[in-house]
Amino acid sequence: MSKPTATTEPVKVGFVSLGCPKNLVDSEVMMGLVARAGAELTPRAEDADVIVVNTCSFIDRAQQESVDTILEMAAHKAAGRAKKLVVAGCLVERFRNEIQRDIPEVDAVVGTGELENILAAAGIAPAPPANGSSPFVVLPSRPEAAVRASRGRFARSEWDGAIADLPNYLYDENTPRVLATPRWSAYIKIAEGCDHPCSFCIIPQLRGKFRSRRFESVVAEAEQLARSGVREITLIGQDTTCYGEDLGLKEGLALLLERLALIEELRWIRFLYAYPNKITGRLLETVAGQEKICSYIDVPLQHASAGVLKRMKRGGGSHVFLRSIEKMHRTIPGLTLRTSFIVGFPGETERDFDELCDFVRAAEFDWLGVFGYSDEDGAASHALGGKLPPAEIEQRRRKVMQIQKQISRRRKKALVGRRFDLLLEGPSAETELLWEGRSEMHAPEIDGKVFVNDFGDHADARPGEFYRCELTEAHDYDLVVKLV
Ligand code: SF4
Repeated sequence: MSKPTATTEPVKVGFVSLGCPKNLVDSEVMMGLVARAGAELTPRAEDADVIVVNTCSFIDRAQQESVDTILEMAAHKAAGRAKKLVVAGCLVERFRNEIQRDIPEVDAVVGTGELENILAAAGIAPAPPANGSSPFVVLPSRPEAAVRASRGRFARSEWDGAIADLPNYLYDENTPRVLATPRWSAYIKIAEGCDHPCSFCIIPQLRGKFRSRRFESVVAEAEQLARSGVREITLIGQDTTCYGEDLGLKEGLALLLERLALIEELRWIRFLYAYPNKITGRLLETVAGQEKICSYIDVPLQHASAGVLKRMKRGGGSHVFLRSIEKMHRTIPGLTLRTSFIVGFPGETERDFDELCDFVRAAEFDWLGVFGYSDEDGAASHALGGKLPPAEIEQRRRKVMQIQKQISRRRKKALVGRRFDLLLEGPSAETELLWEGRSEMHAPEIDGKVFVNDFGDHADARPGEFYRCELTEAHDYDLVVKLV
């Protein structure tokens, strides 16, 4: 077969998206931009003329995975047809110069605030902009952003090659997007950036100040997605519970959820990443009162000891959190609660850790993730004393997961015999004998699995459809159901 030329065949672009769903949406926007400009998307690196790696830089492990993937794609470029290797995402904001200096196979970089530069980076001529597209509108920021900025929260001057301007990009409903999720489910990024001062986190330096998308823009995108067959929407942002504060909206997230619930075709709507002290009574009542809004809250608490939380610059503590969790359960019957913690934060004593363990036992979360602390360059916690040895951090991480495993098993077994709605997703990636699906209790990609081993009268069951099911078996994290 002869080699394609620019005049006879479109440029083929392959994307590798790493990290969280927020990064995935950025990849989907970049895919939309290159597709609108006439490029063809390919899932196979060996077929691509241009390979784009959209990186994550959240913690050490994510940075390493990003670098490994870039090197893997560089090998594809060296061995195959690819002419260009582009690196995008958080790693670029953090290590812009190093990437280009140390990995010569990289032809161009695209930061989180420069998504539209993907076309120039990939050597693709831009398509004329769609009417009304306005992703670079500069929105007013929250007063907190100015205060935190004056304290150096967003400073990037010590980062080699970081461009001085903070990312300010925000896509809108007119920005093209190619969904990488199953056709019935989509994320919508409702806000970008973060103004919180968490001392272990460099997301604000990487992603910029908190900024919300316009209310109407989110609604318009949700309506478009619903018309195209999407039935489940997951709202994301670094902190969705601040949504609208910069637009002068009070209870912005609750208002947005109520409006989205009016979209007839949508069946499930959920939001991820709530900030603990931003969960208002009104928000809880909205979740409880709207059938389409999943009774599911993901609130990363990070720790339970007031001392550790203070050093994390987050505030709160086990008593406050337990009261708040009690209120959540009281307001939303059948609530599914997810959280995540960081263990081994500098100065975390055995007493702090015991308090965290007691809290995990008392709070009884449905889903829980634990990260071992790692020093990030540029994070305030880097300078704190009292660092723990990595082996101790890992031991603590495992202990919390062990406690949670028992809680999870008990809570899941208590559900055996219950009936609930299931979004069928198709054959399981783990075994051909079973299919998989998700319930309201399961956010896409992060929570345990629901396996279907009995289709009952639904031999013609199809992925992307909702079915009633009965829970027949429960394991530590996964469930087995039959369709009824
Ligand atoms: S809330 Fe804290 S941990 Fe989350 S992105 Fe903002 S600064 Fe980072």
